[in-house]
Amino acid sequence: MQTKKVIVIGAGPAGMMAAIRAAQLRQEVTLIEKNHQPGKKLLLSGKGRCNLTNLCELDPFLNKFSSGGQFLRDAFKKFFHRDLIKFFASGGLKLKVERQLRVFPVSDRSGSVLEVLKKQLSAEKVKLILKTALQDIIVQGGRVEGIMLSDGKFLAAQRIILATGGASYGFSGSTGEGIKIAAGLGHDIVPLRPGLVPLEAAEKHIRALEGIILKNIRLKFSHGKDELFSEIGELLFTGFGVSGPLVLSLSGRIVDWLSRGSGVFMEVDLKPGLSKEQLNARLLREFQLNSKKTLKKTLKALLPQRLINCVVELSGIPPDRNCSQVTRQEREKLLSLLKGFRMRISRARPLDEAMITCGGVSLKEINPRTMESRRVRGLYFAGEMIDIDADTGGFNLQAAFSTGFLAGEGAAYG
Ligand SMILES: Cc1cc2nc3c(=O)[nH]c(=O)nc-3n(C[C@H](O)[C@H](O)[C@H](O)COP(=O)(O)OP(=O)(O)OC[C@H]3O[C@@H](n4cnc5c(N)ncnc54)[C@H](O)[C@@H]3O)c2cc1C
Repeated sequence: MQTKKVIVIGAGPAGMMAAIRAAQLRQEVTLIEKNHQPGKKLLLSGKGRCNLTNLCELDPFLNKFSSGGQFLRDAFKKFFHRDLIKFFASGGLKLKVERQLRVFPVSDRSGSVLEVLKKQLSAEKVKLILKTALQDIIVQGGRVEGIMLSDGKFLAAQRIILATGGASYGFSGSTGEGIKIAAGLGHDIVPLRPGLVPLEAAEKHIRALEGIILKNIRLKFSHGKDELFSEIGELLFTGFGVSGPLVLSLSGRIVDWLSRGSGVFMEVDLKPGLSKEQLNARLLREFQLNSKKTLKKTLKALLPQRLINCVVELSGIPPDRNCSQVTRQEREKLLSLLKGFRMRISRARPLDEAMITCGGVSLKEINPRTMESRRVRGLYFAGEMIDIDADTGGFNLQAAFSTGFLAGEGAAYG
């Protein structure tokens, strides 16, 4: 194989893996990053613990992607979770598997994942240029010639891999510049939207619940006749609405619903383990046992204090009423609040606050076997800048690593 000059732009997980793979295949590789260090978003991942992949089988893995799953089949055939684990194990990183087959470093530090990548970049003699941004890609006769950098320098290259990420968490460096450059070269771009994003609620009283985490609840979203149910899991109230794993996972669908107008509502089933009848019986029992206590005190057995204040206020029951005085109608109102604590979702938080960017370079523009552009020869794409996005659980990072690996090979062999 002939040695070529390969330039990779963006030292996130996709770009670093692409650079390492191309260099392993004896290419002369330069990796350009505009930050003063590589992997800034990687360091934030998994709340600083980095959920780097997931051990579920290929088909369920592909189903975790909102639309582009099938596109990734070739990339995953070439380099999947076991390969990634081997890659990090050979770099001395110990990994562990947590609930729902999520893989984390034993150290619980995303920094230890980054250290292996940096060690490999240096072992493979990848030239890393930091604090330098890509300005433009120069194309002649439908083939890449090189790149213009922010400092005005031109670098010649026979192969270019664009791995500049999406357009969320802009402070980490992912500001969508690479996507604009790809658009400028004629690539079709699927509009960017927030994915895995917190939601805002219209009701002011939700704000008083900020910081409350509810475990073991179920969510139901509705939009006209459409309904969407979550698994049982965790909900976080924020200063503007709701977040937490269940909300983030379903947010992609909610963003679509919101864009179609008309109301989107969310109901929290605060006691999904009990049917309405069972919960009614439980309330009756609690009220009988605590007949002389106030309703608010008695509800402590069922809810956190701040939520009790809110639920009692919404029920319209006077807050200092004793349990023995609660009427049947009042108990029924309480029951419906506990089984369906409802709010209107007014909008999603902005793209910059999303964990993932939906949209990006259209999959139609990319050869899934090599990650090469179908418009510009010698140009390859990898990572989140492509129109792929998945649920939480390690799927997005695996996609970044796998498409990076494939792009690195594509650039070397192509
Ligand atoms: C808070 C948070 C937590 C997350 N946790 C997880 C998790 O636990 N598991 C998981 O699977 N996914 C997680 N994700 C998603 C995951 O981090 C991303 O999908 C992944 O980082 C995408 O990798 P990438 O290499 O494509 O892009 P990025 O990581 O965004 O890297 C792109 C790089 O390109 C650089 N760049 C951009 N423009 C230019 C330019 N013009 N010139 C030079 N360099 C440029 C950027 O500075 C950046 O370093 C999380 C995301 C967030 C925001």
